[in-house]
Amino acid sequence: MMIVMKQDATEDEICSVMERIESVGACARRSPGEVVTVIGAIGDRSHIARLNLEGSAGVERVVPILKPYKLASAEIRHGERSVLDICGRRIGGDHFALIAGPCTVESRDQLLTAAHSVNAGGATMLRGGAYKPRTSPYAFHGLGIEGLWLLAEAKAQTGLPIVTELMDARDLEPVLEVADVLQIGARNMQNYALLSEVGRSGRPVLIKRGLSSTLEELLMAAEYVLKEGNEDVILCERGIRTFETAYRFTLDLTAVPMLKELSHLPVVVDPSHAPGRRDLVEPLSLAAAAAGADGIIVEVHPAPEEAICDGPQQLRTEDFARYAQKVEAAAAVAGKVPFIPATV
Ligand code: PEP
Ligand code: MN
Repeated sequence: MMIVMKQDATEDEICSVMERIESVGACARRSPGEVVTVIGAIGDRSHIARLNLEGSAGVERVVPILKPYKLASAEIRHGERSVLDICGRRIGGDHFALIAGPCTVESRDQLLTAAHSVNAGGATMLRGGAYKPRTSPYAFHGLGIEGLWLLAEAKAQTGLPIVTELMDARDLEPVLEVADVLQIGARNMQNYALLSEVGRSGRPVLIKRGLSSTLEELLMAAEYVLKEGNEDVILCERGIRTFETAYRFTLDLTAVPMLKELSHLPVVVDPSHAPGRRDLVEPLSLAAAAAGADGIIVEVHPAPEEAICDGPQQLRTEDFARYAQKVEAAAAVAGKVPFIPATV
């Protein structure tokens, strides 16, 4: 249920409604709306209905949320979009984030070269995996802790916030030392224990859509994080399995406006993993930005031919600045404010 408070509702009235919701064992989540306060009441509907909140002081109306995801739904924010602030870099609403960096952290030289290049080219955050989900158990699975230290060094040198994948809750502690955004990979999108754990960590989370997951399943994954009181969730479309075999995955750009209709959460697109080919990354990025994506997470490498994984799809560092400018122009078409600092 969603309790929409009156515009002039007092703090006491809001708190009293929340206390009453909690008194029947339900969970009350307050949405920080600019005009009106909305309280999401999550729990047994019959218990909440018995409270008769409709007639309570300060309450405008009580509306059921029909979607299975409640906190992720657009309704709960009353049309307002979530804007996340990641170390001063905003994403959502009018703000576009360009998250760039190598698929995986391979060496100090590789990561720092990539980090400085993408920073100089206008990226707003740095990506790079220290823990890699690989199809083969015999493949390289990332540098682990050593990779995390290198990411910390890259952040110290460039100031770019770090987006890095957490695959296993047992690595949460060291990953939290470095990650400004915890990436949950496509293969872990339905790892509910992991989602709850990152929810409890309070750190911003970027959830990639599973290879064969529906948008509703993605939003339910987000709900696991939100339910723990962590409001900083970013959704990511990265390509899904279809009958098409000409490329790795089919980038579902319809998901961008659709997710934005269904949810208040920022939506980013990964244009690298679907085509698996560098030459297709730019057109997909421009299409995603023009379709209203709140950001792009793209792979960039100083020497893609030597990359340990995903070499063919990684942009070259020397091409990044020009690419970023095109993405900024496409994002402007969808109403985003410029994100490349004037100094670049
Ligand atoms: C990645 O971003 O490097 C990655 C492994 O992505 P996905 O989980 O979408 O396959
Ligand atoms: Mn990759």
